[in-house]
Amino acid sequence: MSDIQLLPAVVEFLARPHGHFIEGQYQAGEAGPSVDIHDPSSGTVISRVAEASEVEVARAVLSARQAFKGSWAEVSPYQKGVVLNRLADLIEANAEELAQLETLCSGKSINLSRGLEIAQSVVFLRYFAGWATKITGQTMTPSLPSFGGERYTAFTLREPVGVVAGIVPWNFSVMIGIWKIASALVTGCTIVIKPSEFTPLTLLRIAELAVEAGVPAGVFNVVNGRGQAGQLLIEHPLVAKVAFTGSVPTGIAVGKAAMAANLTRATLELGGKNPAALLADVDVDGAVAGILQTAFVHQGQVCASPERVYVHRSKVQEFTRKLGEALGQLKIGSALDPDAQFGPLANAAHLQKILGFFERARASNTVVCGAKALDRPGYFVEPTVVLANDPSDPLLHEETFGPIVCVLPFDDEEQLLALMNDSPYGLTASLWTNDLSKALRLIPQIEAGTVWVNMHTFLDPAVPFGGSKASGVGREFGSAFIEDYTELKSVMIRY
Ligand code: NAD
Repeated sequence: MSDIQLLPAVVEFLARPHGHFIEGQYQAGEAGPSVDIHDPSSGTVISRVAEASEVEVARAVLSARQAFKGSWAEVSPYQKGVVLNRLADLIEANAEELAQLETLCSGKSINLSRGLEIAQSVVFLRYFAGWATKITGQTMTPSLPSFGGERYTAFTLREPVGVVAGIVPWNFSVMIGIWKIASALVTGCTIVIKPSEFTPLTLLRIAELAVEAGVPAGVFNVVNGRGQAGQLLIEHPLVAKVAFTGSVPTGIAVGKAAMAANLTRATLELGGKNPAALLADVDVDGAVAGILQTAFVHQGQVCASPERVYVHRSKVQEFTRKLGEALGQLKIGSALDPDAQFGPLANAAHLQKILGFFERARASNTVVCGAKALDRPGYFVEPTVVLANDPSDPLLHEETFGPIVCVLPFDDEEQLLALMNDSPYGLTASLWTNDLSKALRLIPQIEAGTVWVNMHTFLDPAVPFGGSKASGVGREFGSAFIEDYTELKSVMIRY
């Protein structure tokens, strides 16, 4: 097959002058610096977006603040849920347009944009909408002494924190954006979201759909630009909370800037170097299929995906041979080609970073497969498996955020746990075994925010997600997000 035909709506949208979405209005942006947007499948410029100035960031925050105090505060919890469900319906109705836009900016396979990025954004949005009517405080009875027959009662209120600054990366710009937008709106907050400079378009289109769904002007704003626009947002005195997803170094800078700005609270969803462990009883074919799917989906550019695979020594040869063979069968092609199973990396800078890892792997590791760029336009590389030299191998420790799996054998469980936990990161981990009692004994000893058994990288809105150790602060989804988007107010009454 070949590339799908772009919808006329997509072609028209790309041709628009793009900037920001403030106070319910699409804005072309001031004349000034802009960012070119490239199609990773060809490397060509497909559109351009203006970078937000300090004045534009301030306008967006002010409009969010006014909506927080005014229009959004007046919408009942039930009605907030109705509006978010309507937005989910509109995203579903415009799914193909949004999927094509996302694929064009990010290089994500069109199948993945349709089936995961957009389809799951709808699922998450509907899940969050259900929380609108279920955010409650508690009542308690204080034990204060009563000298004259007086009594006491107390309760807590969960109040929205205010204006949220949402800062998102390029790998799942819609889904990660929706997690933050929905968490904010359903708790009564308003939001200014800054997409990645590489993938700014889809959230701009969703902001338009939000107005159509009945989200009042100012509740959901978008400002675009590089890190500087994010920095301006964090430093604004009317921002009450920063919800950041991105790399560890940027996350540390963002956390410090938020603290320095106004002791602004921050949740940080950061990177990982996630281990998968194949125990001695592993079903090798099942694990090969599972690692193939989860380590190489979206070319490995998934924060939760497994990058280091510890395999029981008895199964290493079989596993690496079968994984290498399976990867050799993948059809590599344009992100807009529904038959392609493996596409381009998301941007030129990331391509250079991955080529650097390849160079080091070819110089000092045994390469099972890949570790080469493809000689074609765009940002294509081969899916790669390498053998680690020893536990200190840098490829077992540095997040590549690319299609590179590094394999090391282990002999016993004590050694396995030490290897799995030998990382500053703690985002996700997986065990591949049918010995459930062994898995249940290992799980509490694994330092990770999520542990999967016989699966990896599957997220569900009902199951909290976030990092331990340097992989982050805070949890998204489930009911866990409520704490991060609300302030607890205690009320005591004497009667
Ligand atoms: P990044 O940290 O470079 O950028 C993330 C966002 O922060 C972008 O919008 C960027 O413009 C902005 N930014 C950059 N500097 C800033 C600054 N000083 N102040 C404020 N904002 C700033 O990350 P990336 O390359 O876009 O994404 C890849 C990283 O994201 C990987 O490390 C990956 O593991 C991580 N990630 C984590 C999760 C998670 O849920 N834990 C999910 C997806 C991606």
